[in-house]
Amino acid sequence: MGNYYNSDPNRPRRRKKVSKETLRKRQLAALCVIALIVLLLVIVLAKACSKDSSKGGNTTPTETTTTTSDTTTTTMLQSTTTTTTTTSMAAGSNNPNGFKLDKYSVYVNVGEQGIAYVQQYPDGSTEADEVWKSSDPSIATVDTWGHITGVSGGECYVTLTSRKDPTQEATIKVVVTGASNTSNTDKPDSADPDSGSNTDSNKTSQEPQQLAEAPAPSKIQGDGFHYEGDVLIVNKTYSMPASYNPGGLDATCYEWFNKLAQAAAKEGLSMNIASGFRSYDYQATIYNNYCSAYGSSTADTFSARPGNSEHQTGLAIDVNDPSDNFASTPEAPWLAEHCWEYGFIIRYPQGKQDITGYKYEPWHIRYVGYDMAKKIHDSGNITLEEYFGLSSQYPS
Ligand SMILES: [Zn+2]
Repeated sequence: MGNYYNSDPNRPRRRKKVSKETLRKRQLAALCVIALIVLLLVIVLAKACSKDSSKGGNTTPTETTTTTSDTTTTTMLQSTTTTTTTTSMAAGSNNPNGFKLDKYSVYVNVGEQGIAYVQQYPDGSTEADEVWKSSDPSIATVDTWGHITGVSGGECYVTLTSRKDPTQEATIKVVVTGASNTSNTDKPDSADPDSGSNTDSNKTSQEPQQLAEAPAPSKIQGDGFHYEGDVLIVNKTYSMPASYNPGGLDATCYEWFNKLAQAAAKEGLSMNIASGFRSYDYQATIYNNYCSAYGSSTADTFSARPGNSEHQTGLAIDVNDPSDNFASTPEAPWLAEHCWEYGFIIRYPQGKQDITGYKYEPWHIRYVGYDMAKKIHDSGNITLEEYFGLSSQYPS
């Protein structure tokens, strides 16, 4: 019977005749479904590409909105990426395909070692191709690993070239001092300059490189100011004219303090200016009050005489709480560790009272610009007096 029905030519025909009545409707429905699927595919494709919404965008207003916002997000992401790339390019743009070191100046004492770690080699070169040379081995020597040893006081250069491509060269300025204070900053943890040590130095040097912009403050014109290079020196030996009154903090100093404060704020720390610029007359009032209260010899250990205060330069800032309490706040170690990245130094470090003439003041920072601040930092945070070989004593 089954065969009969299947082979019966009339039965299928009958069924077709019956279904033909609704066939058009069914075909229309199928077409609609196909059209919907095609539309959905187009929408998905349009979203995936996020570039043109010519087809997907026309379907419904909702889809148009989604597509547009996706495109916007992509554009924003793209511009963020571009900015990041530009910044990092600028940081190392001097020779993008050559050697890159973690520092280009090394400060060592006689008999001590320093090192500049290689962070990038020229194409085709490796650690094995390093060739180190000192311009003056009587001042500093350098071994095959790049360890620089101070021999006698003075300045020279150490160059790094590649055995494979001698046109590739990096130069390091070496300053050897005879001072007795030591620095661990430039010393490798071990004699082996392996990648482990490099990682460490990468970590500490990357962020500051992007900030290496804080310019040196502009020189004050006129007589009565003592400069060492670009650095204005004001201490017990070197005073300023009573008439010098900038009326407030140096604009660059203020700008970079704000950047410092913003960076600190990101770590939940608060850096405020407790005392910035102080005029000659105001300093006279402060100093005389301290003399009345403590006697002049004690007052001289923590308060400057008028004309000898760094605050009169407009380049010094007392942060938060200029008292012994500051040292135990979380802001103190952060300031000591990071202020150089913004062009500041801790002007009166611990244990340097005989050199600076002032007791430890972790809150008093002095703006010198990034280059100088980095030199001080790289030398183990020595004082300006030590760096330039100066005294700080009132004439008796
Ligand atoms: Zn101060």
